[in-house]
Amino acid sequence: MEGIIPLSVPNFEGNESKYVNDALSQGWVSTGGAYITELEKKLAEYLHTDDVAACQSGTSAIHLALVEAGVMPGDMVIVPTLTFIAAVNPVKYQFADPVFIDCDDSLCIDPVKIKLFCEKECEMKDGRLTYKNGQKRVKAIVVVHVFGNMADMEAIMEIAEKYNLKVIEDATEALGTCYEEGKYKGKYAGTIGDFGAYSFNGNKIITTGGGGAITACDGQVVGHLRYLSTQAKNDPHNYIHHEIGFNYRMTNLQAALGVAQMEELPDFVERKNRNYKLYKELFYGYGNAKMMSFRDGAFTNKWFYSLEINRDKVGGTIQDVVAQLEERGVQTRPIWGLIHEQKPYKDDLAYMVEKAQYYSSCILNLPCSTQITKEKISYVAGQVKEVLDELAK
Ligand SMILES: *Cc1c(COP(=O)(O)O)cnc(C)c1O
Repeated sequence: MEGIIPLSVPNFEGNESKYVNDALSQGWVSTGGAYITELEKKLAEYLHTDDVAACQSGTSAIHLALVEAGVMPGDMVIVPTLTFIAAVNPVKYQFADPVFIDCDDSLCIDPVKIKLFCEKECEMKDGRLTYKNGQKRVKAIVVVHVFGNMADMEAIMEIAEKYNLKVIEDATEALGTCYEEGKYKGKYAGTIGDFGAYSFNGNKIITTGGGGAITACDGQVVGHLRYLSTQAKNDPHNYIHHEIGFNYRMTNLQAALGVAQMEELPDFVERKNRNYKLYKELFYGYGNAKMMSFRDGAFTNKWFYSLEINRDKVGGTIQDVVAQLEERGVQTRPIWGLIHEQKPYKDDLAYMVEKAQYYSSCILNLPCSTQITKEKISYVAGQVKEVLDELAK
């Protein structure tokens, strides 16, 4: 194979340069311009939601959601430990405390353990969930739809209703994922809870270079989020501000890229699904590893392809596997280090974490760019098998 097969690279086969050049020639490069509203409209249509506000990043979208949810210094927010750190850092931006919860076998946050935490460690006081040990108020849950899989939203929403918690869906990896059955049939990831955050960073299913978006179940709330994202400007010309705002608005240049990418999104989702199926076939019946599956009853965007290595059979660490594959021209990555073990979070509460530990030791993410060919997928699978066979005990 010529060159290295990358983990994930963006795909600009559509109108990207045309629209970006158009934005440039119009001179609308910053936080005003028609491409921003066009992208917001396209996203809202795609997600079947009233309104979407385009932001600087997925991280800023999550931060805005926490602000809007009323998360304040000293509050607690339930978060997964198995995720990208950007899902959790905004909790600290609000000087609130995360409570780290385990994943289930979908790699998303485990509702059973969220419920146990609320039941056993907290009590309701004046309709507010309060952590017994310290009397802090638990305000919200951040749910991450890991690798494009759908978290168990039916169970999570039930808990949130019972305990009066706001739900912030981190759908940064899950644009295009929706329920096909059940209570939320037809609902897209990010449109079920109170807030949904999306990211258009370079390796996400669509990209604007850097960028993101936020939606809310109440369309009017999105208007307020947009207001907060533009320095909370109450008046277009006179510099009147009634709240503390942020510089979190997407730029028109980014949005021009985004409008082109939205045209291709359905095709990207289809390619991701097709390529996932190929990997799944290639690893079918293989004893040393198997492809992780996605939730039944949901259509998923198959953003990332996780291979679960059989730890009973294969020795070495994931880092060994990654290094050996790199030598063979295949770029792969382990799953994230658990957040509660990261230096800035060592003193925060981690509740019943077991499965996340296991999965962080055995998941290998495989090349998943939308433009990867069938031949390259076969090559990757072949190389992975050779490396794992050599490491087999
Ligand atoms: C990418 C990502 C984010 C952050 O998005 P940015 O646009 O990079 O700020 C947050 N959470 C998860 C799970 C992500 O994968």
